[in-house]
Amino acid sequence: MKSIAENAAEIRRRIDAAAVRAGRGRGEITLVAAAKTQDADSVRAAVAAGVDAVGENRVQEMLKKRGENAYDGVPLHFIGHLQTNKVRDVAGRVDLIQSVDSVKLAQAVNGAAEKLGIKQDVLLEVKLGDEPNKTGFHPIEIHNVLKEITRFDYICVRGLMSIPPIVESDEKALENFRVLYKLYVDITTDLYDNRLKPILSMGMSDDFELAAACGATMVRVGSALFGERKKKV
Ligand SMILES: *Cc1c(COP(=O)(O)O)cnc(C)c1O
Repeated sequence: MKSIAENAAEIRRRIDAAAVRAGRGRGEITLVAAAKTQDADSVRAAVAAGVDAVGENRVQEMLKKRGENAYDGVPLHFIGHLQTNKVRDVAGRVDLIQSVDSVKLAQAVNGAAEKLGIKQDVLLEVKLGDEPNKTGFHPIEIHNVLKEITRFDYICVRGLMSIPPIVESDEKALENFRVLYKLYVDITTDLYDNRLKPILSMGMSDDFELAAACGATMVRVGSALFGERKKKV
């Protein structure tokens, strides 16, 4: 088995190559280590190997590893489904909440950020397809949702995140990434603070090169970096 450092270098090389093939700059794409189920030592190894950020799915797990200083030196992102009753543990403690999947959650994050006197960066999670156990906004509602959420003063919507459905061919995956890229381009002009670089977070271990080729500015990679997860999450 390869080390986390070797995996990270290989992933970075492949991301850069895909970006260059697509006529984009090397280093334009942020690599987020998806660290669910990984212990603090593994996370530290990923940070030492130069990942740009660490993403966590579970609040308790994040708080535990945070207490072990696992994220020192890199931005921390929340990338899993966030329940409104756990918002207080996340708002202001992470640099980016990637997984805002309802207006109710956005409102809760806004309230928590207001209490802290901060502005919380978030992404809106887009749901493609009709998988019943997945959360997120449908592409057709994004414009209205964005209008509603940009009214919240303590949230800054930086872009979109998605976990497209698993498909059997690269062509179908490509199609999904293209839909997301188009949506991202469409809403970019609506993001009120255009001095900030908009974010399109898509692509995981099996398809980050495809995502990079389709305009992702951020990929979230777990198993290709850390090795297969022991537990299913
Ligand atoms: C686990 C996870 C990833 C990474 O998945 P891999 O296939 O292991 O790379 C990316 N994004 C989210 C939201 C995840 O939960």
